[in-house]
Amino acid sequence: MILEQELLQKLTGKRGVFYGRHSTDKQDIAWQIQLVDNFFEEVLHSKPIAYYSDEAVSARKTKYKDRAKLQHLIKDSSRGVFDFVVISSYDRIARNPIDHLKLREALTEKGIPVIIATTRTEYGKEDFLTRLLFDGISKYEADQTAQRTSDNINTLVFQGKWKGGRTPFGYVYHRASNTLKPDPIRREKVKEIFSMYEKGLGFKEIANVLNDEEKLAKPSWYKEKVKGIITNPIYAGVLTLYRREGNSGYRIRDRSEWVEHEAKCITSPIISKQQWENCWKIYSEKTKIYGKKKENQAAGGTTKLDTPFFLKKILYCTCGKMMRWRNYTNQKKVYQAYICDDCDYRVPCDLLHKKFEQEWNYRVTDSLLQLMNGKRKKLAEKELLILEESIKDCDVMKLDLKNEQNNFIDRKKALLRNSGDSDEAFVYALDLLIKDREKRISEINDQKDLLEIKKSKVSEFLEASPVNISLNFNDFSPRDKNELIRHYVLSCKVSRERDLEITFVNLE
Ligand SMILES: [Zn+2]
Repeated sequence: MILEQELLQKLTGKRGVFYGRHSTDKQDIAWQIQLVDNFFEEVLHSKPIAYYSDEAVSARKTKYKDRAKLQHLIKDSSRGVFDFVVISSYDRIARNPIDHLKLREALTEKGIPVIIATTRTEYGKEDFLTRLLFDGISKYEADQTAQRTSDNINTLVFQGKWKGGRTPFGYVYHRASNTLKPDPIRREKVKEIFSMYEKGLGFKEIANVLNDEEKLAKPSWYKEKVKGIITNPIYAGVLTLYRREGNSGYRIRDRSEWVEHEAKCITSPIISKQQWENCWKIYSEKTKIYGKKKENQAAGGTTKLDTPFFLKKILYCTCGKMMRWRNYTNQKKVYQAYICDDCDYRVPCDLLHKKFEQEWNYRVTDSLLQLMNGKRKKLAEKELLILEESIKDCDVMKLDLKNEQNNFIDRKKALLRNSGDSDEAFVYALDLLIKDREKRISEINDQKDLLEIKKSKVSEFLEASPVNISLNFNDFSPRDKNELIRHYVLSCKVSRERDLEITFVNLE
């Protein structure tokens, strides 16, 4: 597997470190280090500047005893000791949801990439087939992976609590009370933004006004930032889930997909609900009009150039040269062709695309479907194991907490019995500890309930029949078409008779 160019660029010349976890088998860690070292040597021609590896205590114990080296790694990441982390394989990290969550929050949110040596991919960016599964062919898997990290977040949002992450512009985060309070100065700016939008100014115009006001050498406002504020109901005291597409990105989903919840963590929202809804209405109207404009252009316009040249960079001429693609205009009609400059050979894109699609549907579709079903099953089975392990973990943690609590209760009893005028402060402290353990036990119970629900869902899924979806080439989005080709086509040649010779990757 080749490291994506983009990723390679991101890592070249940067300082990387190793993180590993070993099982009881000593060879295991040596093997992990070997894999990661190889990765550094082959791909980056460098070495890790540090190694962090956690000793294997039982997986269950370490879970709440905080892995020391993982903590260390997270701390160092804040101090800027390194630029990226390499782990040997996904399994090493993702085995339990809490580690998964920690690593993701601590590193990926700081923009520190975590690279998986075996697949040479960035952690969190699953391999292509998995992503396809995640991306809407089946919602099921997406639910799981996303869920594993966002369960806690969901719960928080449903309770109206602040879910962490970047504090929205205009608010200040108060750690002690876990609340968001308006920032006295920035609050005014937010108000200004909303009222400008109500008056009909666009995102870009608003950004310009703000930049003019600030007169900074480097403007700090741009249209996406304004959009981010206008489209976020947090300014009216409402928390949301699934509002934006993906983790970052400025694309806003259809509102029917959002989950909205009253923010108990915000006691005084910056603007009223009424005002936010007004702005939202303006925004929806505008996007509707914009969407229509685009549709019209596509339907009647002369510039119908949205066919992706999906054979680019893979299509070769019989002479051995890679075909280029170009647009041609002929009597005011635009058409596209693949060309070989050396042979002065030109073949219309439409024709080759159609031939490619036929061949794909005939030779790839079924095997791919089988592959996917196999993968689905494996994912589900793995998920089931993780869930079962996590449920066991809950029981162990509960037992430990219960023991601690009993211990405190006994000590309190002894204290009260033995000294007539007992040490009040000490009894008080014990009471607090007893209550604390009670609270933690009930939290774990909630967690366990959630896990049980998920476990039954996964079991259900495993018993259900395999999916039967269309994997015809035409059903994929342009982006996916390019990726499908990148993954499943080894070579593609066009003959003088305009026929295609395609070699696919062996899908068995
Ligand atoms: Zn040629």
